[in-house]
Amino acid sequence: MEGRDWPKCMKCGKGQLIPLSDYGRDGASIMFKAWVCSDQECGYNLRIDNGEISLGRTIGQSFK
Ligand SMILES: [Zn+2]
Repeated sequence: MEGRDWPKCMKCGKGQLIPLSDYGRDGASIMFKAWVCSDQECGYNLRIDNGEISLGRTIGQSFK
């Protein structure tokens, strides 16, 4: 990721938001479906699901 000009994290202001890709149900790749902060202590992330943006869920955990 070095040398790429990713957007700065809005939460901590020191990490960068790194895009993640995913695959849709039909197997087509979805670019930039989620963004996560490169600072692990920050943990800021956002996801885009079916055109809706959801903020602040920790990747790998689920909340009820
Ligand atoms: Zn951050």
